[in-house]
Formats: sequence, C-alpha cells, structure tokens
Amino acid sequence: MLALWIGKMAELLLRLAGRRATSLPGKIALRFSPRLLWKLGRKLERCIVITGTNGKTTTSALISGIIGKHEPVINNEEGANMEQGLASALIHHVNWFGKLKCKTAVLEIDEATLPMVIDAFPAQIAVVTNVFRDQLDRYGELDTTVDKILTGLKKSEATVLLNGDDPLARHIGLHSGRPVFYFGMSRENVRDSDRTQIRDGAFCLECGAALEYDGFFYGQLGLYRCPQCDFLRPHPDFMGSFSGDSLELMQGDLPKVSFQLPVRGVFNVYNALSAIAAARVYGLNQAQIQSGLMEFHSPLGRMQVYATQPSSILNLIKNPTGCDSVLQAISAEPGEKVLCVAINDLAADGRDVSWLWDADFELVPDSGNFRRCIATGLRAEDMAIRLKYAGYPIDDIDVVSNLEAGIHAAFSASTELGGLPVFVVTTYTALYPAAEILRRRQATDDENPQYRASVS
Ligand SMILES: [Zn+2]
Repeated sequence: MLALWIGKMAELLLRLAGRRATSLPGKIALRFSPRLLWKLGRKLERCIVITGTNGKTTTSALISGIIGKHEPVINNEEGANMEQGLASALIHHVNWFGKLKCKTAVLEIDEATLPMVIDAFPAQIAVVTNVFRDQLDRYGELDTTVDKILTGLKKSEATVLLNGDDPLARHIGLHSGRPVFYFGMSRENVRDSDRTQIRDGAFCLECGAALEYDGFFYGQLGLYRCPQCDFLRPHPDFMGSFSGDSLELMQGDLPKVSFQLPVRGVFNVYNALSAIAAARVYGLNQAQIQSGLMEFHSPLGRMQVYATQPSSILNLIKNPTGCDSVLQAISAEPGEKVLCVAINDLAADGRDVSWLWDADFELVPDSGNFRRCIATGLRAEDMAIRLKYAGYPIDDIDVVSNLEAGIHAAFSASTELGGLPVFVVTTYTALYPAAEILRRRQATDDENPQYRASVS
C-alpha cells in the first residue's frame, strides 16, 4: 500500500506541477514495491495486450477507443510501454484505498518487456502488430525480438492475433502454443513497387532459405512462401481489402462488412485491421466497432497537425521501416513542402544512428516536392550527410543543431517560399520538445492540435 501511495503522491505532484506523469510515478512506486505491477494487475478482470515493432501506439489507441466506447478502459497512452509506464497507468486508475476503478485494460507493451511482465495481467487477447527491425543496439538481433515475443506469449493465457502477412509473425504463430488468429490483406491490395524496400524477414526462420514472394503490401509484408519447406503465408482469418479510408472485412463464411477508417495509409490500415479483429474476438459487432473507430484521436507524433502559420505536421520516427512509412506518407501529401528532421541519440532514441542509412531517405529527393530540408537535433550533421548521399541538393539543406532554432529555421524557410507546410519528423527524445515548440507557435485561436490520418 505504501508503494501505491507514494506512486499516487508522485502523480499528484507531477500534475500539480503541470508535468506529464507517464512513467515517473510507476518508476518511483516500483522502487518501493517491485511486485506492484503484479499486485495491481491481479485486480483486472481482462486485458488486451498489444506488442510488436511498429504501430503499437496507434493500434492500442484504436482498440481502447473501440472498447472504451462501451465500458471504461485503462490504457497506457503515449508509448509508456515498459514496466514503469504500465505501473503508472494502473496507479492512475487505482484509488487511495487500492481499489481499481475499471476492470478492463488495453495495454501496449514493449516487445522486450513483454516476457517480464505478461504474467502480471489476465491477458485475454494479445495482438502482435508486426516484427520489424528495431534499433539494433536496443535489443540485438531480429530473431531475439521474435524469441522475446514467443517467450511472452507462452507465459500468457491469451488468444493471439498475428499479422499473417509478416513471415516473422507467422513463425511466432507456429510456435506460440496459443490459439492463433491471423489478420492480413487481400491480394487486391498488393502493391507492385520497383523501389527496393527493406525486407527484414525475407528468410525462412524454419529452414533458413530465402523466401519467395508473389507480391508485397509493404516492407516484408506480403504473399510469401518458402521454396524449401512448407512454410507459407496463412490464409487470413480476418482479411481486409481497403481503398482510401474504407475497409472491407472478410471473416470466414460471414457476410462481408465494411468500415470507415479514421486513418489512412497501408501501415495504418493494418493497425485498424488488427484493432477490428481484436474487437471481433472480444465480442463486439460491426456497429459497435464502427462507433468506436469514430472516437479515435491520433496519438502524439503520428501525422499530428498543428494550426501554426504556415501549418505544420509532427511525426515520430524510430527505426528504418517506421521511418519509411512516415516518409512515404509525407511524400504522398500533395504540394511542395519543407522538411525538418530532428535526430537525437540519447538512450531512449538508440545510441547508434546507423539506422538512418537503412531508411529510405532517397524518397526525399525522388519525390521532388521537398523544397528545403532542415537537419536538427544532437545528430544534425549525420542527418545532413544522409540527405546529401540520398541525392538531395546540399545547397537546400540547413544544419541547425539546436532543436528550437532548427524548427524556427524551417518556418522561416517555409515563409520565404510562400508559406509551404512544414513537416517535422523527430526521434523519440525530440518529440515532446518539438511538440511543445509547435504548440507555442500554434495560432492562438486553436489551442489544441487538429487530428488527421495517423502514421505508425
Ligand atoms: Zn523454409
């Protein structure tokens, strides 16, 4: 009880000080009671867990929006997805007498944290969004991530929802020992692309042979099969077919149903598809799911629009595949624009910035509509060099290490060019400061950012 009170006191003090209380109350409370997460988690009746490399935050927000429409839900927001963040989310919903105010939780859990904490929760459904390469210096090799997720799922009682278009997720499905459902896209949505994108899982984890693909949806997601063994893409239990912001869902022999999505872009359609599949497994019908989807608000740093003059859009990038998705989404926005990339290399960002070389920054010169680029953050120089080698004209790159000065330089460039929209993309530790700078710049008549199609 003492640890809980200390956590709640810390939360109260942070809120009084006007600070965000995403991880610190949990961190402090766990110091007094390392088992606090288990003590609080036991009070839940059911829990939906979301893990995977990319799209956790958006998927988690979509699911808690859908379920939250019908019953109160605990949700760890804004990517506070390690033990401290999970503890903070529970502490927030427990009263001073230790009573939990709601019985259902929708929790985003970091892949490496999953095996350590999964048994704290009565996980009924576990969603694995995908398994892409994350920063290597955080968790080591890719198959380590696969192993961590597998270990976590084996410790749970959950029904597992996996991305069947992802060969690494399929591998998890074959070995998890849990009941498994797959979600995936319809063949109609295969994109034939001549660009060489990253294909992380392009080897068969069962026998090591290079996988063959009949087509790709994006990244390593596609219609794969192994030429040497019987490993192949499963027929999706929840199959989506999308066009713009409308998604048709085919589920076994049931009649097709369609949904209006609050998000766009193939990566987000996957997030929405997995959220809809989770809601179906949870027992909700089409109307309930649709009304919940309409409640969705894009999480911080996912194509988040600020009413600045000129307008600006903030995005988080953290690994090559996620970065490619963001760059593709930005390139697809019509018209000319200014790009401001903030790269930090603090512990939470990953110390090693070599991933910048795996990300498809060639899209910036290729798309032909970025008039000026500002490289900022602690590794502004590395970013500028990356853009230069991507083939972007060096004369159009400004290097401004200080984040605030960098963002202001982007607005100055935009104003000079007649008021082009400013796209700010940042690594994790630059995200909140960048959001704060944009908030301050935002026109006074609109205190809150407007939301639009989200990324990641
Ligand atoms: Zn094989």
